[in-house]
Formats: sequence, structure tokens, C-alpha cells
Amino acid sequence: MNRSPILLVHGGAWDIPADLLEAHEQGVFDALQEGWRLLERGASAVDAVEAAVTAMENDPAFDAGRGSFLTRDGRVQLDALIMDGAAMRAGGVACVERIRNPIQAARLVLDKSHHVYFVGPGAEAFAESHGMTLIDNSELVLDRERERLAEAQKRERAGVPDVTFSGSPSQESHDTVGAVALDSDGHLAAATSTGGTLNKAPGRVGDSSLIGCGCYADNSSAAVSLTGWGEPIMKLVLGKWATDRVLSGGSPEQVAPDAITYLHRRLGGHGGIILLAPDGRYGLAHNTPRMAWGVHTAEGPRVGTILRDDAPQP
Ligand code: ASP
Repeated sequence: MNRSPILLVHGGAWDIPADLLEAHEQGVFDALQEGWRLLERGASAVDAVEAAVTAMENDPAFDAGRGSFLTRDGRVQLDALIMDGAAMRAGGVACVERIRNPIQAARLVLDKSHHVYFVGPGAEAFAESHGMTLIDNSELVLDRERERLAEAQKRERAGVPDVTFSGSPSQESHDTVGAVALDSDGHLAAATSTGGTLNKAPGRVGDSSLIGCGCYADNSSAAVSLTGWGEPIMKLVLGKWATDRVLSGGSPEQVAPDAITYLHRRLGGHGGIILLAPDGRYGLAHNTPRMAWGVHTAEGPRVGTILRDDAPQP
């Protein structure tokens, strides 16, 4: 098969403030360029989503890699998953603290292990044994995030409810990053990477790196990546919910908003989704005020931070 590739990315769904819009649009644009460069040369969807997510992990605008939110005790703990829809291979890591690009560690798990998921020091040891350099956690921590954590903890002490868990579209940032791709051989892949939620308890894992929750890919159904309040997304296994609906005949354009409606109706959750079918149809949706998104087809790249009025139509 030689078909036209497609790449979709997101850089989180929340009420992105006006002064951060440009950085988010630039970040998703750069991620599209990285992934598309590979896809147009005939590279695999797995390579493309890894490259796109690596670019966003390296961009401190996002809650992934360096610049991520901090745990309650002031550390960065990262989760990532990558999935190959052609061979149904997957690699995931969670609670890693010494890896600059957790999506690349996840890719190593996908390629080099008969296991699927590693956590904490075991994940770091696995990555190191396959050539990754381990870094000090402080290299991932920004002063911006120390201040943000201090403010969140001040609000907590004052008894102000945490908006992340309030069930309303969050004022807190959801800057998780993700990508889904269809390559010229007709194969799908998905990748999601996150620093999780602000002020999270050490050891907490959200939806992003869990198979079928924040990320999933299967050539026979669809590829998906989600962002938002992780706990409701996990309980609904929302990524798999969405791809199953595409498998049973739903169009991604309709299933994407349906998934977000279901998330809110069933558990009061909020977030965003990118969804891509093997025939090239795709859908994007969010119920937060904004979501950083990007789509690259043979016609070129498009990026934005809101979909309600300018939703890209395949
Ligand atoms: N879903 C992520 C989590 O709960 C957070 C996000 O999307 O920003 O860990």
C-alpha cells in the first residue's frame, strides 16, 4: 500500500492563557515538522509519533519531559506510552525521574523487551541497559514549576478546592502531549507523554501511559491520544472506548466529541482527544476552553488552540 500519511498532535487541553498561546502553537507546529519529516520519507508511524512527542518533551511549554509539573515533594515524575497498531506492540514507562525523554525509553521497551511496561527505578535501569543516559532529576525541574507548586500548596493550605479535581474545565494546566500517525504503508501508531498533574502524590500514575486509557493504537480500529483529568479517563478506559466505536462503524469525526461528552456526562471529567482511523479520517475534540492541536496532511500543517469554531475537517 502507498497512501498519503497523516499526523495529528496535541499539547494539552485546558484554559491556555493568552500569553502562552503562541508558545503552544509553536510547540505543536515544531512537533508536526519533526514527525512529518519522517513520514514523508516513508518512515513508520511509530518513528513519527516518537519524534513528534520527543519534540514536545524537549519544549518546556508542555507538561512532559523538562518543565513538567512537580510532585508534592518537588520532583518531576514522568509517564509515557507508545503503541504500534500494525504489530500490536507497546512500550510504557511510569514514575521515571532520571530520563530526559521518557517516550524514547518507552520505545526501547516496545522494541527490546518482551514485557510491555516498566516503572520507577526498574524502568530507568532498563533504559540505561539499552544505552540511555540517566540524568539528575534536578535537570528536569524549572523554577517556574517550583513557583507553581508553591502557589498550589498555598491554596491547598488555605482550603481552596483543587480545580484539577473539581470536575469543571480546569484553570490548572493540562499540558500533556500526544501524537497519532498513519504512515504510507497504512499503519497506525500513537504516543502520549506527561509529567502528570500538579502537586500529585509521588507514585501517582495517570491515564496517559496506560494502554487503552490515554493512548491506544490498533490498525483494525484506530489510534488515539488523550489529555485532561486523568482519573476519570482511566476509569472509563476512554481511549479504547473511542477506538472500539470506530471499529464498530463510528466516524472519528463524531466519535471524538462523543468520547468527551461521555467523559463529562459519566464522571464530570474534562479533557481533549485526537483520533485517527486507518482510512485517514480523523477527529479532534475537547471540552476545556482550549486545546493545543496540530494536523499535518499532504496539503500541509495546520495548528490551533481552539476547535469549537475552526475545527479542521478531513
Ligand atoms: N492526563 C494527564 C494525567 O492525568 C494530565 C494531562 O493530560 O495534562 O496525568
